Amino acid sequence: MSDTVAFDAMRDALRGAERLLLVTHEHPDGDALGSLIGMHGVLTALGKDAVMFVAPEEFPLPYEYDWLEHHDIVTTVPADAAERTIVFLDCGSIDRNPADGVRCPGATLLNIDHHHDNTRFGTLNLVVEDASCTAEIVWTLAHALDVGLTRRVAEALYVGLITDTGRFMYENTGAPAHEMAAELIEAGVDVAFVYRRVYEGWPEPKLHLVARALSRTERFGDGRLTFAHLFADDFAQTAALDSHTEGIVDMLRSVDGTKVAGLARQHSGTAAGQWKVSLRASDDDIDVSAIARAGGGGGHRAAAGFTTALGPAELAAFLDEQIAAQQS
Ligand code: AMP
Ligand code: MN
Ligand code: MN
Repeated sequence: MSDTVAFDAMRDALRGAERLLLVTHEHPDGDALGSLIGMHGVLTALGKDAVMFVAPEEFPLPYEYDWLEHHDIVTTVPADAAERTIVFLDCGSIDRNPADGVRCPGATLLNIDHHHDNTRFGTLNLVVEDASCTAEIVWTLAHALDVGLTRRVAEALYVGLITDTGRFMYENTGAPAHEMAAELIEAGVDVAFVYRRVYEGWPEPKLHLVARALSRTERFGDGRLTFAHLFADDFAQTAALDSHTEGIVDMLRSVDGTKVAGLARQHSGTAAGQWKVSLRASDDDIDVSAIARAGGGGGHRAAAGFTTALGPAELAAFLDEQIAAQQS
């Protein structure tokens, strides 16, 4: 851990709190849910009254994660939220949590995250930029708090670990990620079972959605930008959900010559005229989080996103200009 003072302060704040409310970012991914459920297990083992909140519109959870035991996540903000210590996990900015109810004036906010552009909105901030995932920070905190890992906690943390490291293949994968994996397997994680749940078991609509995205893939700037878009009709006609786009942008990135891959989509959940954009960089030459920030969003150097009113053609031009500016 890079900042021992922040780490020790966070450990002590968690140890000192009695009632807590745990939240994560909107459209929760594997690390969001993994670090949320993992941290809840750690706090519960310490005898704390800890409540997990996820907004009702996020349910059902994406099929990749709905097998994680989550019956105790609540979908209404507890009445005593203002008196609880609020723990934000994997949340780069407070705006990425849609629950207005958790913006309690005067409440203690504990911000635990690994996004380098985290806005440090907490009363205490533990932002570990070189952690592979927020689940890795939770794992380190569990050690510091002397909490052994149950199988449920280990499984949740493992999902955060494999999804944010691209199954141990992205640049953020270091020895700690593998040490953590070894320990989680010792604690009961069934690797093949988790693999099948997270990476196989595609709902058939996803297959048809992927086919549409691939058929609408274009290359720009001699292939340095590989870009696809999906209309709301593509989702309606295939009966696919937005969460079924997971993984498409990574396929685009794998095309030879690609520096940046982008996927823009409109679906039932995007406001009229708005496009949700996912960006991925293939190496360290381009920082897609800077491009996403220029578009009003954020993220990591290699994986970022934003929402825009630019249509596909203008958006592709904007992205290619941004790439060119970083290359010059
Ligand atoms: P996604 O493409 O949705 O998987 O997101 C990739 C990364 O970008 C994640 O780390 C997100 O936290 C971040 N991200 C996505 N959309 C936004 C946004 N609108 N604002 C800030 N960060 C975002
Ligand atoms: Mn996340
Ligand atoms: Mn994460």
